[in-house]
Amino acid sequence: MGVMKIRTFREIDVPNARSGGGTYRPGELRGIVRINPNHCVGCDTCRKICRTNAIEGEIGVTHRINVDRCIICGQCLINCPFGAIEQMSFVDEVMQKLKDKDSLVVAIVAPAVRVAIAEEFGNLPARLR
Ligand code: SF4
Ligand code: SF4
Repeated sequence: MGVMKIRTFREIDVPNARSGGGTYRPGELRGIVRINPNHCVGCDTCRKICRTNAIEGEIGVTHRINVDRCIICGQCLINCPFGAIEQMSFVDEVMQKLKDKDSLVVAIVAPAVRVAIAEEFGNLPARLR
């Protein structure tokens, strides 16, 4: 089975992305995961997967995510058979900073990423160590 490329969008596309409310604290980003109505066919897979009942919609109709209930677990994102669920991306901003000779770029790798990267360098998967 091939790997489906996850679609992305930018923070600028989400009004009030940095306001609090719902499961979000002030300063946290809202709407990091969203359903693209142009690609959703209303198959209902995501609604059954979501453990917080954050996804609304009838079968055959475009679904939507209630950001006040969404905890950004990403399960709907990786399980949508139609690639209709997108995630917010900051890759463009990072690439700009990396190219900017006047910017000092400091990277901090999250612990979970360390485990995944180790596999890329030939270490055994964590579950086999
Ligand atoms: S799984 Fe994808 S196509 Fe199906 S209802 Fe959810 S977003 Fe739409
Ligand atoms: S990211 Fe998780 S919590 Fe949010 S809508 Fe998708 S499955 Fe539900």
